[in-house]
Amino acid sequence: MNDVVDLATEGAVAVITVNSPPVNALSANVRTGIAEAVQKAGEDAAVKAIVLHCAGRTFIAGADITEFGKPPKGVPLSEVNALLEGSAKPVVAAIHGTALGGGLEVALSCHYRVAVPSAKLGLPEVKLGLVPGAGGTQRLPRLVGVERALEVICFGEPMSAKEAAETGLVDAVTGADSLRADAVAFATRLVAENAPLAKVRDRSEKLAVDRGVFAAFRKANARRFRGFEAPEACIQCVEAAVDKPFDEGLKFERETIMRLIPGVQSRAQRYVFFAERQANKIPDVPDDTPTRKIARVGVIGAGTMGGGISMNFASAGIPVTIVEMKQEALDRGLSVIRKNYENTAKRGRITEADVEARMGRLTGSLDLSALADCDLVIEAVFENMAIKKEVFGKLDAIVKQGAILASNTSYLNVDEIAAATARPEDVIGLHFFSPANVMKLLEIVRGEKTAKDVVATAMKLAKTIGKVGVLVGVCHGFVGNRMLAQRQREANKLILEGAMPWDVDRVLYDFGLPMGPFAMSDLAGLDIGWSRETSKGETPRELLCEMDRRGQKTGAGFYDYDEKRNATPSPITETIILDLAAKKGINRREISDEEILQRCIYPMINEGAKILEEGKAIRASDIDTVWVNGYGWPVYRGGPMFYGDTVGLPEVLRVMQEFEGRHGADFKPSALLEKLVAEGKGFKDL
Ligand code: NAD
Repeated sequence: MNDVVDLATEGAVAVITVNSPPVNALSANVRTGIAEAVQKAGEDAAVKAIVLHCAGRTFIAGADITEFGKPPKGVPLSEVNALLEGSAKPVVAAIHGTALGGGLEVALSCHYRVAVPSAKLGLPEVKLGLVPGAGGTQRLPRLVGVERALEVICFGEPMSAKEAAETGLVDAVTGADSLRADAVAFATRLVAENAPLAKVRDRSEKLAVDRGVFAAFRKANARRFRGFEAPEACIQCVEAAVDKPFDEGLKFERETIMRLIPGVQSRAQRYVFFAERQANKIPDVPDDTPTRKIARVGVIGAGTMGGGISMNFASAGIPVTIVEMKQEALDRGLSVIRKNYENTAKRGRITEADVEARMGRLTGSLDLSALADCDLVIEAVFENMAIKKEVFGKLDAIVKQGAILASNTSYLNVDEIAAATARPEDVIGLHFFSPANVMKLLEIVRGEKTAKDVVATAMKLAKTIGKVGVLVGVCHGFVGNRMLAQRQREANKLILEGAMPWDVDRVLYDFGLPMGPFAMSDLAGLDIGWSRETSKGETPRELLCEMDRRGQKTGAGFYDYDEKRNATPSPITETIILDLAAKKGINRREISDEEILQRCIYPMINEGAKILEEGKAIRASDIDTVWVNGYGWPVYRGGPMFYGDTVGLPEVLRVMQEFEGRHGADFKPSALLEKLVAEGKGFKDL
């Protein structure tokens, strides 16, 4: 047909093969090729049935999202689907790999579907802030039922071939290695049996549901969908499938996606999708940079972080040696790891055998020399430069040459740590986030002397253990914590100036963050970095700690907690804050939600600009990737830098200048922010 779609015949069956590497995405060429092939097969009297299948590693894996927002070219997908469904000869989709998004919508427009056992089928559009736009929301419920369709469409998670067969999404599961032959045989049988043209659009038996399912679904998932527009839009489309005739439902779906595509949420979600991929590109470390083999990992410290870090490797099949100072600490660390794995097994996500296999990959030791043969050692001891230097000095003498020596430090200078060794080129920061076995982000801190192959190895390793790696430079707190400090400082000032902790938390929660700074402090423990001996009673936090209100673990912190850890604003905290403000001579005033938001967020954007200016992050989208994956920044707002562009940098600068006049140097605009505004540009233009 054309260079990406081929048409051949096998007996009475026409086989359309899409061959557009890497994933057979629905580019204009693919769509036009399929349309032409269906037409041609339709006109060929010798052809009695059609099989649509794909070469390479997968069935059509989705739309070509690089086409979004560009003028349409080629045959629209809706027309391709109408041609397939309208074909007078039965069409069988033969599925392997991942039939996702537009790919599944094509398959749903065929009369029958067969799939290999390993195939996955899904509609992930919601993850890009969209609804499926080519009939997916109308056809899927007709096959799998309304309730399951709601989940598949609103969560965006794929279905296995087995489930697809059970629910009626596919008509047969083929042999693992005989998809094409089995699909042709299936089509041949259809012809022999004179099977009807099973059009999904004509089926309505599974649409007869109690309307209560929609309300129940909304209620059950309110938390999960909080702030997002697309899941609600998806629900409405499925409602339309139930309420309206098929063509009207399709029209409603089309109108919905056309409304969502230019919206800020979908733009943000698509931006995040590309930003995470872009973060893997390091300008001076090409993709073909050789990497070092990491077959055995050492972790020093079995505390909060060391345990979680070790789990990542054990789960990925890499053996780990954990070194502690005392047997008791080691035993405690290992038992926490076991408990975590057992909880995962209880939830059915791994088997008991997996728990034992993973635990079997962990070896404890009290002797650093047990790390001699490791390819990578990650230090996760106390956040103290003297201790870290001592540990690295010892490691240098013990660990084999060529190994990577990494620190999980949150703030400390990685170059200074590296200087404690005679091989600073092998030293790098691997900053995991707590809980380290859960959080997706890995800040990879490149020291002044870190070798390129060490950077390349760390970036690759991030993927191996299922993390999103972002390369950052050495500075206090790196990218994430450095920006967080801005927000923390303002939050602390705001509660003395007039707001209450729950006001600040509410505003940031409503913005879409998982929790505000005070709820977060209560969760982490107010006494991190606090000691009774040095406490001066000068901040609300110090005063709370002195009263043994140290957060959730003591039943009280900024908030009061009941046995189920439900928080309520505390009159004690309120009194502490009011008294302290009076003591400091602060005239408390009414503070608007808008001011709270701007005071907390704009200095972060400004700090992000400074980070870019100093070259501590490669690009603005890397900063956003840090915030989305490490701090729960709402994906639908793209990240702080994307948000800055959304607000408009002139507005961010204007507000910063206004605050600078009122509150001083904390709000001094960065040179880059001023320059971008002067040039009429945004972070997106960098
Ligand atoms: P932690 O106190 O829970 O654990 C530290 C462990 O290291 C302790 O079990 C201690 O016994 C052990 N240790 C200390 N010195 C040792 C030595 N010389 N040899 C062997 N073991 C030794 O601390 P943590 O929260 O896990 O933090 C560890 C590091 O990770 C710090 O640098 C911290 O800044 C960083 N970090 C912490 C978090 C967090 O949220 N907790 C997040 C990111 C990074």
